Amino acid sequence: MDYNYTIKKNKRSKNLRIKIKSKNNILVTIPYYISYKQGEIFLKEKEPWILKHLSNIKENPLKFKPYTESKKEAKDLIIKKLNFFNEKYNFKFNKVFIRNQSTIWGSCSSNKNLNFNYKILFLKDSLQDYLIVHELCHLQEMNHSKKFYSLIEKTIPNYKSLQKELKKYLIN
Ligand SMILES: [Zn+2]
Repeated sequence: MDYNYTIKKNKRSKNLRIKIKSKNNILVTIPYYISYKQGEIFLKEKEPWILKHLSNIKENPLKFKPYTESKKEAKDLIIKKLNFFNEKYNFKFNKVFIRNQSTIWGSCSSNKNLNFNYKILFLKDSLQDYLIVHELCHLQEMNHSKKFYSLIEKTIPNYKSLQKELKKYLIN
């Protein structure tokens, strides 16, 4: 099996460390006094462990098209859904931003701007609805309290199973 790796020196590290993020993203951190050559030897020693982990990495089941191609379509969809669900809630929000993010689906700022990840476009409809209602309800409740989830439940009664399903698509 092939894999790509990067060896980086870190002034603060005292040990050699390997971090596997994906097949193309294996990071070896070495203390500054260790040579890159020694870093490579260390990596080779750990190869059986690396290969075992690589074979367990699951591919993200979603395929994303590039951001520039999809941004407008994502924004149209999200605005349409926001307006649809806000008929029920009647919350006030300011601007809606579409962003290309790697670890979050959306957020809500204290000045009532809503941010959404364009990758929402590639999720199935019910998951899109959940993420939109989630941020919408943060306009009222800036937390993940019981009150917050009871707001969500008004329009998405099965939100718990959707939350679970979303975990499969955690982007990294
Ligand atoms: Zn939240």
